[in-house]
Amino acid sequence: MFFMGAAGLAGELTMETMNRSRAATLTAPGKIELRDVPIPVPGPHELLVRVRFAGICGTDLALVDGGYETDLPLVIGHEFCGRVVAAGEAVTGDFSDAFVTAEINVTCLSRKVVDPCRMCLSSMSAHCQYRSVIGIRERDGAFADHLVVPAANVHRLPKELSPKAGVLVEPLAAAIRTFEVTPLSPGDHVVVLGAGRLGLLVAKAARSHGAHVIAVSGSPEKRELALRFGVASVVEAGPTAREQVLALTDGIGANVVVECSGAPDGLATAVTLVRPRGVIAEKSTAGRPTRKFDPTIVVVNELTIQGSRCGPFAKAIERLKSGLVPVDDYVSGVFPLSEIEAALEAARGGIKILIEAGPD
Ligand SMILES: [Zn+2]
Ligand SMILES: [Zn+2]
Repeated sequence: MFFMGAAGLAGELTMETMNRSRAATLTAPGKIELRDVPIPVPGPHELLVRVRFAGICGTDLALVDGGYETDLPLVIGHEFCGRVVAAGEAVTGDFSDAFVTAEINVTCLSRKVVDPCRMCLSSMSAHCQYRSVIGIRERDGAFADHLVVPAANVHRLPKELSPKAGVLVEPLAAAIRTFEVTPLSPGDHVVVLGAGRLGLLVAKAARSHGAHVIAVSGSPEKRELALRFGVASVVEAGPTAREQVLALTDGIGANVVVECSGAPDGLATAVTLVRPRGVIAEKSTAGRPTRKFDPTIVVVNELTIQGSRCGPFAKAIERLKSGLVPVDDYVSGVFPLSEIEAALEAARGGIKILIEAGPD
């Protein structure tokens, strides 16, 4: 069913009435085409969303570069917000005119299968055995005018939240997830390696647990931004980083080091900054193998290496509503969908770039 009221003003020639959409399609590593395609049709349990903004993250760049392997062609983009414009016939609940974002894992629960897999039954649907992932794996994403999402994955965005903040729900949820799997105590020292788009959100999430956050970055601009994001200290990446972190942590290193840089030597650096029995939290999906990393130190210092990804959307929405992230400081640029390649290039600096599909 189409919600005609949401499709645009009466008589206006909208994308919906033309039945056409643009979709930034990755056809081969390094090759992205803005294709003119039919508007996708939602399945029985799905919604059609007209994209307002989409965000670029490191995973998108890794997909474009081919480091993060997936089946192509694929419309990439998994952080987004937009207006629901149509619903499949089995969707229950009123989504007409809803402004939404959506969780990215498409699972047995999303598909409402009668016989869910063991991971879905064990409340671990993020690891569903039959998982596809919006904009990442076997499921087209949000660098487009429209995308189709399972209704079960959708979260309404409250009116108090700006559309730009709405795009940040997915990455902030992933940042919050870090400390669900690696719990913090107030006063813990947390080193965030890489103070870019991911590191800044992780720093915010760590701060809300009462941690002392130390941001490590090679970029003076990012160190400056990290201070504005409320970190306790900043340290220049490089040969003196260890000495500086030790000086800030009573000579023993951080309780937790969160690797957000995606640099090939990120893990090798992290083990030099964490204390014995500490945790290295891996967050980056840069699609590059690590280098110069000797696991001996993991044994000697009894370290834990813990990965984490998708997190709680409802919590992220609440945190954004309370103004946790200064959105205008965080978002460095907005590009129209027609300039997708320039947008991806700009995002390579590790800053937050949004793609604007169309007006709401
Ligand atoms: Zn992402
Ligand atoms: Zn499943």
